[in-house]
Amino acid sequence: MLTLHYFPKILTNPNHPYFNYKQSCFLQRLQDAGPSVVPSFFTRAAGFLHDFNLDTAQLLPNPAILLTPWIPQGLKFLNPFENYDKTNTASDIYLQLFAHHRELYQHFVPVITDGSKSTTQTSFACVFINSTLSFQLHPSCSIFTAEIMAILHSLSEMSNYPVDNYIIYSDSVSVLQTLSSLHRHSHPLAFSILDLHDRLERKGFSILLCWVPSHVGISGNEIADTAPKNASEVLDNSTPLKDFKHYINLTLHSRWENHWNSQSMNKHRSIKPVVKPWPTLSNRKADTIITRLRMGHTRYTHRHLLMGEQEPMCTQCNCIMSVLHILSECPNFNSLRLHYFQSSPISLERLLMFTFYLF
Ligand SMILES: [Zn+2]
Repeated sequence: MLTLHYFPKILTNPNHPYFNYKQSCFLQRLQDAGPSVVPSFFTRAAGFLHDFNLDTAQLLPNPAILLTPWIPQGLKFLNPFENYDKTNTASDIYLQLFAHHRELYQHFVPVITDGSKSTTQTSFACVFINSTLSFQLHPSCSIFTAEIMAILHSLSEMSNYPVDNYIIYSDSVSVLQTLSSLHRHSHPLAFSILDLHDRLERKGFSILLCWVPSHVGISGNEIADTAPKNASEVLDNSTPLKDFKHYINLTLHSRWENHWNSQSMNKHRSIKPVVKPWPTLSNRKADTIITRLRMGHTRYTHRHLLMGEQEPMCTQCNCIMSVLHILSECPNFNSLRLHYFQSSPISLERLLMFTFYLF
């Protein structure tokens, strides 16, 4: 995971000393000739990317823009619905407000954008009056990237049209807020939007951004909502570093989970069925004890391995002493289980959850 986080970080930072690194032929020949040679970091990283089917992804470079912090940078957006709470407002009211808004901005050509993300694909659509464009993006792209890409693509489409007034509608308030206040760590495509918007305005275009609520029946918005799901054409394979890292984390986690699920004979699976961290206790000593119990390794049950002694046996049951036997099985401790947990027998899994609440 660290390799797959660090490698794309180098690729997106032109100031990184290894940004233009090319592996020498000598090193490549050495690696090819000797399988025992530890491959270089770059070979290993490229191998991992190939393994994860990610070698086609093109990482978006970090914008080399110096922002002046004392001047607010960004594009303001219109919100004709800002005084209305979406949970308490009927769709009809939104439709009327939108009709009124369109009357005020009737000289602006509407363009409606939307992004979509499912488990299998990320896509977006731009709905113009006479045409609908929809494209797929690299699967690692987030829904935020899809929404912002839809706005960028509609701007680049407009640059082919005659000079006019346009208004771009988006249902993603987070994207519009990002565009309205840019900072150094903003999404890389937000800077591309600002740049293209400026260029179009200089040509004589007038372009506004506006928020519209989704799923209230605004015409065009419903088309923009379904169009991305049917997108078949791939626009390009570019993806921002943040989305890429997130995708890698999810992919690695699901691989880890699959591997753990396949370990049917592992005795720890019963107390740890899913791959996720245990909550940590504030009391360090208690945390150590409960971790030892979960692993089943304690001084009492395992000391014989260090001391070269006989395994401890339960005299009552004539079996080897183990954490499972002591806590869950041995009838010697039935009364204690009943006293503390009001139940006997009690599974080790339940017991270790109970112990968690005791500390
Ligand atoms: Zn026993």
